[in-house]
Amino acid sequence: MTTHLTETELQGLADGTLRGPEGMDAREHCEACPECATELSSYTALSTRLSALRDPQPPPDFTAAVLAAVEVREVHLRQRRHTLIAALPAAAMAIFAILGWTFSIGPAAHIDSLVEGVTVLRHLMGVLGPVFEAARLPLGLGAFVFLAVVLKALSRTLRPVERVTAHG
Ligand SMILES: [Zn+2]
Repeated sequence: MTTHLTETELQGLADGTLRGPEGMDAREHCEACPECATELSSYTALSTRLSALRDPQPPPDFTAAVLAAVEVREVHLRQRRHTLIAALPAAAMAIFAILGWTFSIGPAAHIDSLVEGVTVLRHLMGVLGPVFEAARLPLGLGAFVFLAVVLKALSRTLRPVERVTAHG
């Protein structure tokens, strides 16, 4: 009496991958040994049931949905890149303008222009004082709203793409 079949041999017999002399020997053993025959039958049943299982069918619009999601993501990435590309030169130009104004005029001229500006502003204030006074609150609110809008746009631009696609 040979030793009992191993699990691998039983599985090979069940799914038909154990062939040749080894397969013959294993089959002969199973015919003589009730224990291994029982195990083989359970392996065979399992193997049959497994092969009866079919891959779940993807929904009909699966490919289209995936492609659409990829497209949306790419559009977001592109928009984000475009916004950054558009914002960077603007920011650079603003910085260059400020720096250029600061360095192109000498310190004295700088102060002169400041004083001039203040004088003009004072004249304006004298004339437009009441108007400016009345408009100060709306102006302040406007500036605040403008700042909020700019900050929001910036935060949306710099937000990770994953969250953007999750919401949209
Ligand atoms: Zn056996």
